[in-house]
Amino acid sequence: TYVYLNGDWIAPEHAKVSVFDRGFLFADGIYEVVPVYQGRPFLAEHHLARLDRSLAALAIPNHGDPFWYGLIEQLLARNAISDGLIYFQVTRGAETQRSHLPLGTLTPTVFASVSPLAVHWGVPTPAKVTLCEDIRWLRCDIKSISLLGNIMLKQHAQAQGAMEPLLFRGDHITEGASSNYFAVKDGALYTAPTDHLILPGITRMWVIELARQLGLPVYEQPFRVSELTQLDELFLTSSSREVQPIGQIDDIMIGQGQCGKITEQLVQAFHESKRKHCSS
Ligand code: PMP
Repeated sequence: TYVYLNGDWIAPEHAKVSVFDRGFLFADGIYEVVPVYQGRPFLAEHHLARLDRSLAALAIPNHGDPFWYGLIEQLLARNAISDGLIYFQVTRGAETQRSHLPLGTLTPTVFASVSPLAVHWGVPTPAKVTLCEDIRWLRCDIKSISLLGNIMLKQHAQAQGAMEPLLFRGDHITEGASSNYFAVKDGALYTAPTDHLILPGITRMWVIELARQLGLPVYEQPFRVSELTQLDELFLTSSSREVQPIGQIDDIMIGQGQCGKITEQLVQAFHESKRKHCSS
């Protein structure tokens, strides 16, 4: 396998960056993950638009869409991967002195790799989430490589035997540590709005589109912690897990803990959109 680092295609074990890289010293960088089905990136333009917004928020220059599309093509060709996840990371770059504010204009460090991931076509087994206070910062809309909060929350969830922490601030459910959520109540979908408290998930956006096509009402309003016992269904979305049914929040079962009807409809709609993407 080959990875891309600053213009070179190299074996993963030879990919090295300076200890003065601001990604290493300050987590001064961003990343993006693009799913690939049958050798074609899925919703790539949306992922690249989010990459551009993350870079712009940090005033790190962007190489531009043609550069990223070229990288995607090369990554897939050189690694002969049909289904998987592309990883892009850009840090502000390196200079040989540690200073919070960069001292000069730096050349960003660009890293890209791809790893295989089998596409699934069934209905995933419902998973458990655990409710956790959202301890992250207030710019969760930036896809920052600084993921300490997310990691601590995920470690806690793992210790509770949960797939993902379901995060809240005050009475509002925000998102998962690496996913967005949809709550279903009385046939309508609820998900947190895309403000500074969540990452605007591309899968979230796509599921909203699919739900509207199915005639399901979608409200971009945060579901409330105080309403959690009243929801009919719950699922998470992310590029790697697509639509993941949730059957249990801590000790509270949702229904009988099975995959809900509307969730299943959206799982199937998502599979259908992958099929179209692969055959178009
Ligand atoms: N929220 C967070 C915090 C994430 O890290 C992710 C991505 N792993 C998501 C939501 C889901 O985003 P996407 O659907 O674009 O993968």
